[in-house]
Amino acid sequence: MPELPEVENVARALSDTMVGRRLDGLKISYPGVLVQSPRTIRSALIGKTLAGVHRHGKYLILEFIDDSGSAHLMIHLRMTGQIFILDGYIPDKHVHLTFNFEGCPVHYRDIRKFGRLELVDDAVNPSAIAHVGPDMLEIRLPEWRRRIAHRTAPIKAILLDQSIAAGLGNIYVDESLFLAGVHPLRRPRDLDPATLAEVLRRAKQVLRLAIKHGGTTFMNFTNFHGKPGNFKTKLCVYGRSGQSCNYCGTTLRKLRVAGRSSVFCPSCQPES
Ligand SMILES: [Zn+2]
Repeated sequence: MPELPEVENVARALSDTMVGRRLDGLKISYPGVLVQSPRTIRSALIGKTLAGVHRHGKYLILEFIDDSGSAHLMIHLRMTGQIFILDGYIPDKHVHLTFNFEGCPVHYRDIRKFGRLELVDDAVNPSAIAHVGPDMLEIRLPEWRRRIAHRTAPIKAILLDQSIAAGLGNIYVDESLFLAGVHPLRRPRDLDPATLAEVLRRAKQVLRLAIKHGGTTFMNFTNFHGKPGNFKTKLCVYGRSGQSCNYCGTTLRKLRVAGRSSVFCPSCQPES
């Protein structure tokens, strides 16, 4: 599932290659991924120039302008959404949409079709995602403390909760908690201020490193240029249950928290 680093990579690549280009066409093969009708989306976007690409958590927002005004298309890749350009690529049945930017095709492909594309009212703070918390890379320590310090749910569930802060999914939550030395079942209310600060610092560190390495590829995520990300080789705990901890050699264990599997080191992340 694409998380913040994967979406950030798509945002940067789109921004580097397509900003300043006019959208000449939009081929829609499967309208089920669109929130509005194909006609509404086409008439809002075609003929406008891509002016900017924004990201909030795992949401991508494309900003289009022309003399008549602006339009904003929000894209949520969800489970298996991909956005890419690829020389000589012939779209398969999973490509539901192809943007044509002055002769350059950009494909939206989504095997499970859970992703969504939606016209929204703002490029930075659309009301459609008003329920989503501040971006994980942007949130400052005082606000982080205000949002989590009183919570009694397991820290793992809190970090996955996009209404508290947006962008962390299962992979990066497990990695952040490992680096911070915090057991996934600890409750924020029981953690001291320095530990809460360390969780935030490590979460940002993991995200930045993953962005640098092009994200993490499991199953079928590929980046904007059709290549897999290589952060997988840097993972300390995620997907490594039963193997030994890189730091202390203890066997990594798995448990379920908030409906998700969590891998942790019982020595580096003590429960109390
Ligand atoms: Zn360990």
